[in-house]
Amino acid sequence: MSRCLSTLFCLLLAGLLGATEIVWPTSMDRTTIRSLEDYAQPTVSGKPESALFGMVREEQHRFHEGIDIRPIARAPNGEPLDRVFSAMKGSVAYINQQLNGPYGKYVILYHPEAEIPVYTLYAHLASVEKGLKVGDKLSKGTAIATMGHTSISPTAIPKERAHLHFEVGLVLSANFGNWYNQQPDLRDSPNQHGIWNGQNLVGFDPVPILGRSSVNLLDSVRQLPTALAVTMRTKRPPDFIQRYPGLLAPGSDPAKAAGWYVEFTWHGLPKRWTALPPESQQLPKGVWSYVALDNNQRQLLTLRKMITADAKMPGETLTRNVNILLTGAQ
Ligand SMILES: [Zn+2]
Repeated sequence: MSRCLSTLFCLLLAGLLGATEIVWPTSMDRTTIRSLEDYAQPTVSGKPESALFGMVREEQHRFHEGIDIRPIARAPNGEPLDRVFSAMKGSVAYINQQLNGPYGKYVILYHPEAEIPVYTLYAHLASVEKGLKVGDKLSKGTAIATMGHTSISPTAIPKERAHLHFEVGLVLSANFGNWYNQQPDLRDSPNQHGIWNGQNLVGFDPVPILGRSSVNLLDSVRQLPTALAVTMRTKRPPDFIQRYPGLLAPGSDPAKAAGWYVEFTWHGLPKRWTALPPESQQLPKGVWSYVALDNNQRQLLTLRKMITADAKMPGETLTRNVNILLTGAQ
């Protein structure tokens, strides 16, 4: 893992390249990490890969949207003692102290000063730092919690497998609540987390980011491979593209767009947006259409339910993400 020679050198380099300084989010010393086994907390399967981002669970049928980092210190009763730290400069966006979902107790930080304003998420916490509240501004490496194994059944985690679940990603829509309230199958389970609901968050692989001491996060997102493309027709630009203008293709003017050609990663992150003018032949007949895929990524796209098994139709993950993106844009 690379390391800056001195703090001053790091600051100079980060300033010149437009980069965000990153620290490891637990008590583990990043410079001691040589391999996946050094930091991974595997699932009950025991496979180190199960701690990684991707289709790493249940024989590639369950997606893991972050990475699981094991503790390095435990109390005599077996509970982890590791502290959890802000991975980069930012502010507290959300704190969930309830045991009401698979994340257990969790904290979300927002990083508006990064090259692209990402969120980071820290889950299964034993406890949140006393006094921490939404809106608090934090420098990188600020203690925010203690590692734990909180979660609810059927995803309960024994203390032997306590870990920090860490995510980094983007927020699909500021209007997520409107989409949620329109879903008949969700009527009996009110949205308890506002825009910070997991369905409104799209992560990307944190490993390349946590492995370095400074990273240009916008470049990290732009460099993710395109796996499929969608065209959509909009009356107003989706708020996603107002929040992340760095993902606009060159020459794209949201004010003149009648729709969009949107490239997605295999896991459902809308990574590149090309504006379609009113006269464009590419505009879909209906609200949106799935128009292209990279055949080399077809298997992953199918496993992630981005497309159907025959690759002819959009799958449930793609459909949900597009509909959330379009909330407020129709
Ligand atoms: Zn996890």
